[in-house]
Amino acid sequence: MLLNIDKPLRTSTLHDETCPHVPRPHGTEFKPRDKLGRDGGWFAVSSGAEAKAVAQREFPQGTYKPCQYCQDS
Ligand SMILES: [Zn+2]
Repeated sequence: MLLNIDKPLRTSTLHDETCPHVPRPHGTEFKPRDKLGRDGGWFAVSSGAEAKAVAQREFPQGTYKPCQYCQDS
């Protein structure tokens, strides 16, 4: 699973790796993998609980939400 921390949108969104809403490649200069860049970052996590913990640690001012397309179960 991948947590998308988006600073401009002030959101942290949990996705499956296979979600069509995850851009490829999903590590960029301003949104790198496993750390925060200017616009946020992508963090590999293994559960919703871990995603919430990472979101709280890395970007507590953001709003956490599961992706409505791939995490709606
Ligand atoms: Zn998704």
